[in-house]
Amino acid sequence: MNDVTRPAVEWRDVTKRYADGHLALDSVNLAVAPGECLAILGTSGSGKTTLLKLVNRLIEPTSGVVLVHGKATTEWDTIKLRRSIGYVIQESGLMPHLDSKENVALGLRVRGVGSGERERKAESMLELVGLEAARIGPLRPHQLSGGQRQRVGVARALAIEPDLILMDEPFGALDPITRRELQKEFDALRKRLGKTVILVTHDIREAFALADRLAVMDQGRLVQVGTAEALMARPANAFVESFLEDARAVPTSAGRTGS
Ligand code: ADP
Ligand code: MG
Repeated sequence: MNDVTRPAVEWRDVTKRYADGHLALDSVNLAVAPGECLAILGTSGSGKTTLLKLVNRLIEPTSGVVLVHGKATTEWDTIKLRRSIGYVIQESGLMPHLDSKENVALGLRVRGVGSGERERKAESMLELVGLEAARIGPLRPHQLSGGQRQRVGVARALAIEPDLILMDEPFGALDPITRRELQKEFDALRKRLGKTVILVTHDIREAFALADRLAVMDQGRLVQVGTAEALMARPANAFVESFLEDARAVPTSAGRTGS
């Protein structure tokens, strides 16, 4: 049934013009392979979040089509579509009145999973992302550190066992050390679980560390797609080059060896 050559996500000639007339996306064509981690890079306002929200249909395109597992988002039952996609946002987006375990279990509850099974699953997901379920499980988001909150956010996204995970600047609000640690663990986890991940970031080093390919956005246009090596070797224009400068300054993070 699963056609491995079919993209997990594809944007076909997608344009998005918001109600106020602002052109946020201009004829974007892009495909993400199953199991791939694609980073969407760009400065603030370049259309990264818009691109991502088209996938789980929080936004509709003005023209063009977005396909998830080969099927246009307009053909999907929206509820089913959203429930099949993990979504991690900056500041985790956790429910403040629920504890960690309840937050992780939330997606399972709406899917009709029984309470015992939910509990067991939530605990194992917390452990999976490196949190001690017995201690962290009963704590509410405000009782957690930023890094712990993001881990709970990742655990929640993974709990529904999605093939596809959308991440919108998930590590953006963390201090550099916690961020790096979480990036590393997430990378290992993703490779182990074999999920397709679309990661929005404005951090070139994060993209280099985590992604198989990078898609660079500038003012609603996709300017270049390729591996870190390809972008470094042949940046499409001065904008991409300026983005890469940051990575070039740190040869250790730029040289993705052995992958
Ligand atoms: P990014 O995530 O790359 O920072 P966004 O996709 O959030 O960018 O936004 C792209 C552009 O579209 C920005 O200029 C933003 O102000 C604009 N925009 C986003 N949402 C709306 C909206 N609902 N109405 C009007 N303009 C919007
Ligand atoms: Mg954004």
